[in-house]
Amino acid sequence: MDEKILIVEDEKDIARILDYNLKKEGYHTVLAHEGTSIPLLAAKERPRLIILDLMLPGLDGLEVCRRLKMEQKTAAIPVIMLTAKGEESDKIVGLEMGADDYVTKPFSVKELLARVKAVLRRSKTPVPVGDKFMAGALEVDFLKVEARVKGAAVELTSKEFELLKALALSAGKVLSREALLEKAWGMDAALEVETRTVDVHVGTLRKKLKSEGKRIITVKNYGYRFGD
Ligand code: CA
Repeated sequence: MDEKILIVEDEKDIARILDYNLKKEGYHTVLAHEGTSIPLLAAKERPRLIILDLMLPGLDGLEVCRRLKMEQKTAAIPVIMLTAKGEESDKIVGLEMGADDYVTKPFSVKELLARVKAVLRRSKTPVPVGDKFMAGALEVDFLKVEARVKGAAVELTSKEFELLKALALSAGKVLSREALLEKAWGMDAALEVETRTVDVHVGTLRKKLKSEGKRIITVKNYGYRFGD
């Protein structure tokens, strides 16, 4: 199988159980017990999946997740959050921060393994890297730089098209305003352009996409996600 999973858990017993069972299933594991080192460690190790505890010394799980999703090298790595009972609101924030799934402690090893497999399977579904992306009545042609709704061409500005492209290429994942700025306006401009500009362009993009505009979902105080 040869797939690497990064386990971030400060409770040594839980970390050990996860480590043991994931290895038994044929995964490679990397263990960490605090949050601060994780963004760099993940960029270096490039795991296929990260199991991330919420309450961690150093950076907490939410902040770690946020940083992972902001960084191009690690943004695509799926994250399963471990939360304790009573941390439900954090769980929701975690999903908004880009976590792919969560498991509540105490959990059964069987359940966790099932989630790991499901998340890995999902993240293997082909990313639309070809020249076309389709969702419902929307068709985006990356080569021709064209968008169509129900077969009719939609006139988009270059920024609107770049935004749509960035969202479509990360379909299902939350992208922060900063990440969208960087993708559509470029790294240098991202420092000068206000993040509110993204909201304005998303607004006009949604209108132009008409019935398909609702696919661009607002994630409050954070950014946007292209959904089904
Ligand atoms: Ca903990």
